[in-house]
Amino acid sequence: MDVPYSARYASARATIPHVSTEATTVLWFRRDLRVDDHPALERASSRGGVVALWVADPALLGASHHRAPKRLRFLRGCLEALDAVLADRGIRLVVRSGDPADVVSAVAREAGADLVVATDDVTPYSRRRDAAVAEALTADGVAFEPVGGPWRVPPGDLAGSKGYGYLVFTPFWRAWDQVPVAARIAPPDQLHGPTLPSEGLGMLPAGEPPIAAGPDAARGRLEEFIRSGAVDRYGDDRDVLAEDGTSHLSADLRMGVLSPAQVGRAIGAADGLRASRVPFWRQLAWRDFYAHHMARHPEIAEGALKPAYRAMQWDDDPALLAAWREGRTGFPLCDAGMRQMRETGWMHNRARMVAASVLVKDLLVDWRHGEAEFMRRLVDGDPANNNGGWQWTAGTGTDAAPYFRVFNPVLQAKRFDPTGAYVRRWVPELAGVPDRFIHEPWRMDDATQAEAGCVIGRDYPAPVVDHALRRDEAIARYKDADARYAERLGAAA
Ligand SMILES: Cc1cc2nc3c(=O)[nH]c(=O)nc-3n(C[C@H](O)[C@H](O)[C@H](O)COP(=O)(O)OP(=O)(O)OC[C@H]3O[C@@H](n4cnc5c(N)ncnc54)[C@H](O)[C@@H]3O)c2cc1C
Repeated sequence: MDVPYSARYASARATIPHVSTEATTVLWFRRDLRVDDHPALERASSRGGVVALWVADPALLGASHHRAPKRLRFLRGCLEALDAVLADRGIRLVVRSGDPADVVSAVAREAGADLVVATDDVTPYSRRRDAAVAEALTADGVAFEPVGGPWRVPPGDLAGSKGYGYLVFTPFWRAWDQVPVAARIAPPDQLHGPTLPSEGLGMLPAGEPPIAAGPDAARGRLEEFIRSGAVDRYGDDRDVLAEDGTSHLSADLRMGVLSPAQVGRAIGAADGLRASRVPFWRQLAWRDFYAHHMARHPEIAEGALKPAYRAMQWDDDPALLAAWREGRTGFPLCDAGMRQMRETGWMHNRARMVAASVLVKDLLVDWRHGEAEFMRRLVDGDPANNNGGWQWTAGTGTDAAPYFRVFNPVLQAKRFDPTGAYVRRWVPELAGVPDRFIHEPWRMDDATQAEAGCVIGRDYPAPVVDHALRRDEAIARYKDADARYAERLGAAA
C-alpha cells in the first residue's frame, strides 16, 4: 500500500501533546544544521529542555560513497558552527558515535527525555534507520517524531491528479509553485537542557573546509547572489560555464545550513516573485522533485527507474573509467568539469550533464559508477539530487526526452563555453590552443600544436573514443534493452 509519506509517524505525533509542564526533548540533527527556520527545534524548545544531538553513524561514514574528504570537512565546519550558535543560546551540541538505534535511545535515557524529534529524510537508508530508532525508543517508552524536512514541500503533499506524484518535472513545478512559502520560524533566543558528555568531532577530517561553512557563510553567499543581481540574470547566465552565474548554495542546502524556504523568502517568493527570478526558483524545485521521487520509488537508489534499462549491457572498461575520473578523456569540456570537481568539490551543472553523458553514452560505463564517483567528490553530494541527475542524463529516470537524444560534447562546449575560458581554466595544457580548436584540439595540425605548446597524445590525449560511433552503439544498446524488456513482458502476458 502506498502510505502517504507524511503520515508514516502519525501515531507518534498524535500521542505526544505539547506540554505545559517542563519536559526534555532530544533534537537529533541530521541534514538540518541550523537554528533559524527550524520546525523541529521550535517543537523541541516549546516543550522545555533540549538536548542537541548529532550522531556519527558508522554505516554512513563508512560507506564508500560517503568517504568524501571534502564533504566531510565541510560537514565538520557546519557542525562546529552549529555548536557555536547553540552555545550562544545556552546549550552545546552533543556528539556521539555508533548505531543510531543504540545511541539515540541511550541519549534519551541519559537526558530523561520522553520525545526525540528530527527533521525527516527520504533515502532508503534513512527510512530504515529511523524505523529502527523509533522501535528502540518505543521499547523505552520514548516517542520519535519527524518534524519538517529538508524540502520546501514535503513528499506526499503533491499527489498529482492520479495520486501517484509526478514523473515529469514541468507539471510538478506548476503544482510546487502554487504552494505558499512558509513564514519564518525565528530561532529561540535561549535554550536550556541537561548537559551530557560529548565525544567531539575527531572522527571527521580536520582542516579548512573547501568553502566557508556555517550560517554566516551561507547567508553571505545568498545575499551576494541577490545583491549582485546574479539571481535576476540567472535565466541568461546559468548555463554559461565561464560566467559562473549560479548561486553556489547547493552544499548549504545539502547540509540544511539554509532551508529552501529561507532562500525563497530572501528572493521574494513569499510575496510575488519578480519575473527575472522565476528561473532560479524553478531550478530550486528540482531538489524537491528528486526527493519526492526517492520517497515514492526507493528502488531508484539501486538502479534504473525505467525497468527496461535495469538490464542494460555496459562495457565498464576500467581504463576508460579511470580516464574519465582523472579528466583525460580528450573531450575538453568533460575533462574540465571532472578536474573542477576534483580540485574544488563543485562542478557547474552544465559540465555535470556533459561529463555524465560522456561516461554513459560515449564510454558505455554504467551510470552508477559515475554516481558513486560524484558522491565521493562533491561537497554538495546528495543521494536524491545526484541519483536524479545521473538517471536524467542516462535516460533511465525522469527525463522526458528519449534515449536517442545524446549530448555531443563538442557542440555543448561550443555553445556553453564559446570562448573556451572554462576549458582553459581547468585544463591548463590547452591554455595556448587557438579559439577555433579549443573544443577539438585533435584537429590542430602539427605546426599549430607546436605553436600552441600542446602536442596531442603527449600533452593532452586524443579523444579516447569516437563520439559518432559510440553514440550509435549506445542507441543500439538502449534499443536492445527496450526490445528485450518488451519480449519479457510479452512472455509474461
Ligand atoms: C549528473 C548530475 C549530478 C548531480 N549531483 C548533484 C548532487 O549530488 N547534489 C546537488 O545538490 N545537485 C546535484 N546536481 C544538480 C546541480 O548540478 C547542482 O545542484 C548545482 O550545480 C549546484 O550549484 P548551485 O548551487 O550554484 O546551483 P543553482 O543553479 O544556483 O541552483 C540552486 C539550487 O537548486 C538546486 N538544484 C539546481 N539544479 C538542480 C538539479 N538539476 N537537481 C536537483 N537540484 C538542483 C540545488 O540545491 C542548488 O543549490 C547534479 C546534476 C547532475 C546533472
